[in-house]
Amino acid sequence: MIKNVRLRDVIPFYASVWRARGFVSPLEVDFKPTLQCNLRCKMCPQRAISDQERKKSIGEELSTEKYFALIDELAKMGTRRIHIVGGGEPLLRKDTLDLMRRVKEHGLEGILTTNGILLDEQKIRELVRLNWDLVMFSVDGPNPEVYEDIRGVPGAFKKVVSTMKKLSQLRAVHGQVNPLIQIHCVIMNTNYALLKDMVELAREVSADIVTFVKCRPQGPSLPVSKEDLPETFRHLKEAIKRATKYGITINASELLLVWSKKPKNTICFRPWISPDIWHNGNVTPCCYSREVMGNIRNRSFREVWDGEKFNNLRKIFLQGNFPDFCKDCNWPELLQYTVPLGKWLHTPKTLVTLPKFGHWRIERKLEYFATGENQKINIVKRS
Ligand code: SF4
Repeated sequence: MIKNVRLRDVIPFYASVWRARGFVSPLEVDFKPTLQCNLRCKMCPQRAISDQERKKSIGEELSTEKYFALIDELAKMGTRRIHIVGGGEPLLRKDTLDLMRRVKEHGLEGILTTNGILLDEQKIRELVRLNWDLVMFSVDGPNPEVYEDIRGVPGAFKKVVSTMKKLSQLRAVHGQVNPLIQIHCVIMNTNYALLKDMVELAREVSADIVTFVKCRPQGPSLPVSKEDLPETFRHLKEAIKRATKYGITINASELLLVWSKKPKNTICFRPWISPDIWHNGNVTPCCYSREVMGNIRNRSFREVWDGEKFNNLRKIFLQGNFPDFCKDCNWPELLQYTVPLGKWLHTPKTLVTLPKFGHWRIERKLEYFATGENQKINIVKRS
């Protein structure tokens, strides 16, 4: 059964679907609709963008009509999920809710990642009315002091906590499970001792999922130091205990595995499953890379997705190599432990066996089944 499905068995299956159809649509497409942001968080890679570049980028943003056409095309291709995410704060675009409505008109799953500051009551009501699948709140501290030190805006903690509470109350009033509420926390040297408190915060606001991620080293000395790692691991274990007690889904076990014992032999499948489309129409193979595979302003998405540059990149991966732009990425290591098997099994036949309601939860469960020694992919040695 699913529990015994191993990645090395599933990947050839996925490849065979690709070969049979000529291509496979991405399961998820991440939209980065704007580079504008209302915060300047300490660990954010977008801080590298100058104010001038940010200003210029407004004029480069894709129009609402172009986004509508893109969503229509993706739905027709068979994409299952649209994730409206950063670049900046997506709610700074005036038409973000219109895009979300279009996603739902097609019956696609929708994820919104936001800092939550701009979610007023009207928008929260609309999220519930749309039965939007998941709202991921970026929250990196369980109290105003830590949160606001990272986010740089006084009063923001109170606002985001009340927003999450309002959302959970409203969905309860309507008897809905959706939108699921996820708290996403970047672990840094200022918050690693507060991970179990993040779970307490999730409980307080009735969040369903807590995810932790390592701070990427490009920021100013924010990552947890080597000396503090044992303590960080201890706090992650504490967080797991609390989350288990409260029935909150958490990714800390997988993160612990990756962080404490870095796997050596890995490969990345992002260029087959979840590309990013930037504000200006540039398509990149994943959320970490700025390597442009093509631009959809004057071409269809499919032309780029199935274009020469994307396919050449896939060949590099299949030959067991990583291109230069992947050298600092730890996603392949994460994939080894947290790959959502649901993503590999997204043939139409399989999808109908997964109830739409709570699909995300089912995928999360599948992720857990995918963990463990016997799931390792030993395809390529990374230098
Ligand atoms: S290894 Fe990282 S940067 Fe390279 S394609 Fe995969 S996720 Fe993107």
